This record gives sequence, C-alpha cells and structure tokens, in this order.
Amino acid sequence: MSSESKKIKIGLEVHCQLTSLKTKLFCNSPSDYREKPPNTNICPVCIGTPGSLPVLNRNALNYATMVASSLNFEIMSHMIFFRKNYFYPDMSKNFQITQYDRAGGVPFAINGYILLNDGRKIRLGRMQLEEDPAKISYDGTIESSSETYVDYNRAGIALIEIVTEPDLESPSDAREFLNKLSSILEHLNVLDLGLEGSVRCDANISHRGGKRVEIKNISSFKEVERALNFEMTRQKSLASKGISVSQETRHWDDVRRITISLRLKEEEQDYRYFPETDLVPVTLSETFIEKINHDMPELPKEREIRFQQEYNHSSEIARVLVKDKYLADYSEKAAKESIAPREVGILLAVNLPPFLNEIGKDLKSLDVAPEHFAELADMISKGEVSRRSAKTIFLEMLKTGQKPRNIFDKKGLDVISDSKSIEDIVTKIFKDNPEAVKDAAKDTKAINFLLGKIMQETQGRVDPSIATKLVKQKLSVQ
Ligand SMILES: [Zn+2]
Repeated sequence: MSSESKKIKIGLEVHCQLTSLKTKLFCNSPSDYREKPPNTNICPVCIGTPGSLPVLNRNALNYATMVASSLNFEIMSHMIFFRKNYFYPDMSKNFQITQYDRAGGVPFAINGYILLNDGRKIRLGRMQLEEDPAKISYDGTIESSSETYVDYNRAGIALIEIVTEPDLESPSDAREFLNKLSSILEHLNVLDLGLEGSVRCDANISHRGGKRVEIKNISSFKEVERALNFEMTRQKSLASKGISVSQETRHWDDVRRITISLRLKEEEQDYRYFPETDLVPVTLSETFIEKINHDMPELPKEREIRFQQEYNHSSEIARVLVKDKYLADYSEKAAKESIAPREVGILLAVNLPPFLNEIGKDLKSLDVAPEHFAELADMISKGEVSRRSAKTIFLEMLKTGQKPRNIFDKKGLDVISDSKSIEDIVTKIFKDNPEAVKDAAKDTKAINFLLGKIMQETQGRVDPSIATKLVKQKLSVQ
C-alpha cells in the first residue's frame, strides 16, 4: 500500500435486504415486491394507517443473529426498536422503525470486523435491523425530472444496516471488503445479490485529513469502487489546485458515472428518536444465540480451508473460488466429477476470469456445465492434450458450450507422442527454414524460432521439452 493512498479514508454504510424472508419485517405482506404493479404489495401496517400494529418477523431475528455472528459482532441480548422521525414521502407514516438511537440506545450488535486478504481488520461499528423505505423514482435524472414517483411495495422489507469505521484505504479495499461481505451473506443464504436493489451502499471518503464527503445512492456493490474512484480523483484534483473540499453530500449518478452535489452539510438532522412502544422489547437468550451458531452454514473462510484439503487447491486458488458463492458451488460440482480437482481450480480461478472480463459476462450467463470443466481437467491431467491444445479447447468450450472431448475429436488435437512422427516434423521444419537453422547453430537463442515453427505446424500438439531436445540433437549433428 503506497503512502499516498494511505491518506485516503473510506467508510461504508451498507444496507442489505434479507431477501430470503417470505414476508416484510413487521407485517405479512410478501417480501417479493419486485415486478409488481406499484403500490399493490402493501397492507395497513407497512403503510402505517392509524390503528395498525407492527409484529416483529421472528425469522428476521434468526437471520440477523446469523449475520451478526458470522461478522464477529457482539450481539446485544436486550434490544428495543426506535422510531426515527422524518418527513419524506418514502415513509408514509413519517417515521422509520429502526434500532439505532444517538442518545445511547442499543443497535442489534456492535464491534464486529471483517479481515482483508492482507490481514488488515476492517472494524464494523454497529449493525442494526430496520425497515426499508419506499422506492422513489424520477423521470430521467434526479436533477431534470419534473415528477417524483413513490412506490410503497418495498416499504417495510427487512434490512440490515452495517456501518464500518473509516478503515478502508482505497477504492479497491472497498471492493475487496464488499466481496467478502457478499460472499458471507450468500453463504448464509439470507441474501440474493442478483435481485435488483437488494444491496445499497453509502460511502464517505476524505483525502489527506480533508473534509468528509458522503456519497449516497450507490445502487450496487459493483458501483461502489467506481463512485469512490471518481470522488477520490475529484478531491485530489481540487487539492492540487489549492481548493479545499467542502463537507457535503453527493449523489452517485450511475448513468453518467459522476458524483453531483446534493447538499452542503447542514447541522446533523434531529430525528427525534423515541422508543417504538408498539413493539415489545426483544431479549435474545444465550441458548438462542448458541443454537444459531450451532446450525450456522459453512462460511467462506471455512470453505476455503476445506477446498485446500479436499480438492488440493492452492490457498490462492481456494480464496478466489470462495469469493463468490455461485463460483464456489460450481467449482465444487466440477471438482467432485473430476480425477484432477486441482486442475479444475486452475481452469476456473485462473483461466476463466480473463475470458469473462473480455466478453463482459459472468459465469452464470455462460451455457457451460461444471462437468465440462471436469472433463477438460481430466484430459489435461492424463496428458491427452498439451497445455496449448487445452487452451484452444477451453476457449471453444466457453464460446460454444460443447463438450471438451467433442471439440478434441473434431479438431484432432491429440498429443503427438510417437517419436518418429515428431522427428519427421522437425526434419521438415529444418528443411523449410535453412537460414534459421544456421542462426540457431551459432546462437542458441534462435532455437526458439524453430520451436515456434514446430508448434505452429502441429497446433501445439507436441510436448515442448521433447521438441527442444530433438532440435538440439539435430543442430549438434549438422
Ligand atoms: Zn404490509
């Protein structure tokens, strides 16, 4: 980490919906609000009509406890809910039921942490359970729209809020942190990251001890690094011109990929928090927390270690594979089908990502079965194909979804192991390239040219070490 980037301080406030719940946090309205006509997925409780009473979703408590535990939080055994009062159309009852209270109330959990790959600890100050507000939308952008629309279908969905200390030192730290957090939540099966709006993030960033700028409305984890990079560059460029950064709240426009000023920081808003007396205080017994811990699914860190033991992956490969639960599950299916699980890991963790980057897709959208990776890994480990041919097959398999063996048969990519055949090829190359042969006899570096010709001629089906040996032998008798 360079000293320059250490002068950057980033903190995140992450909101994650508990998408695996069937119903909202305090009522029986379904939690699958997406794709429904606006304002149809509601009931008196979630829009707060007078006389309606909230009832806490018990499963939300189970899930939140699992999350808190897996993020190393100290769970508060006694907690109450608060009303956070504010006047804004995304909460029709003019308050949000949440847990945090600046006057000293208790959140769900405090003092958690996530470790980055290099061992740095990112402290998580607190975690709380709260309801999601309604969704506000605009015609076009927030600046140009003449209308504001509000859809209460989302109001009341269970959210957890996780707040980090400003321990992140660069936008890429933020990405790594969010990858780890997502993988944990996905392994707990409480969150489907693929659902639109299931995670949102606010970020604050300051440069060289300057004023803190808050970026609101980052609508996916992938956008966070982008928004932070933009803001870091903006702040550095202001500093280089001698202009000081204003403390302000900025909006991330993910279409134009810029941050725009929303408001300069006023006084801290007074939300007049007071206890939500319609809900009873919650007590989590030790037995309850122990049971949750006992039934906890396998977490990424444990899985990483198991992958190394069970499939002989290197620690680096295992780490890449568990970064994303889908990839981890996929790799495990492939590894189980293969006699060479270590090769499977290399194909998926090393060879696949550059291909996906290039075509701008993810593994989910590829029409390739895990068994195909297993088959190719087996062919490599049995020496049926050279590394170079394997690469050809690999790319063809990813592009067409065909089985590796079919591609292999069709292209005739079997390794030429018969020494007489290899000798014939070498003889032919020597005959075709007399100048290069002369050069190679004088300068061993020029041998590579002849080797390249042999590989070209055979589409890489010859073992390079055998070819090198034969070329050297032939040169010595010239
Ligand atoms: Zn409802």
